[in-house]
Amino acid sequence: MLAALAIVIALGLLTARAPSRGGALWRREPSGGTPEERLAWLSTHEAGHAVIAWHCPVVGSVTDMIIEPTRGGDALWQGRVLHDWSAPPETRRAWDIVIALAGLSAEMLCYGQVRTLLLRDLDEALAAARSFCRQGGSWTLCVAQVGPPMPFTVRCTDAEALVLGRAWATAYALLAYHREAHARLAAIIAVRRRLNDAELAAILGPKVRA
Ligand SMILES: [Zn+2]
Repeated sequence: MLAALAIVIALGLLTARAPSRGGALWRREPSGGTPEERLAWLSTHEAGHAVIAWHCPVVGSVTDMIIEPTRGGDALWQGRVLHDWSAPPETRRAWDIVIALAGLSAEMLCYGQVRTLLLRDLDEALAAARSFCRQGGSWTLCVAQVGPPMPFTVRCTDAEALVLGRAWATAYALLAYHREAHARLAAIIAVRRRLNDAELAAILGPKVRA
């Protein structure tokens, strides 16, 4: 049975400009593309978080996904994720890492590189990996190296790095499996401001329960 307790996972992009405030901000490069291209890229990133959260067996539902394009073509995605609290804590922690890395992994899958600033996503992934390792968790999700390795390094212990790498591979493998649905969602959230669970189900298919 799903507990009613909701956790708002900050999957969204901050609209703040200062990197010190965190957030997966668009990297301001001279060749950063048109606003339309940036929005498409950011939608790809955010759809990655959403697809993994949707199909993750320890998340009961994903509600009120909100997309807010801003003047610069950045986007904000905020989802309310309802955890299935009957799942073992270790499994929930593992999926938290995978969901945190899913946006970056989606960029890598679709474009072959990561172009958003990723401080907030990495902070969340690392915090979850630390918690996972501190509790003595052993990784039971994808253990093979799928796709390219993580394109960035994080200052952490070897055990945390191993967990992060496996979470990255898990996100990549799942996104590759759901690639068509991910592309559909990315196209829709580039123009839609808000989606609820029923609309997500129509786009992504029925949510699989553990
Ligand atoms: Zn993100």
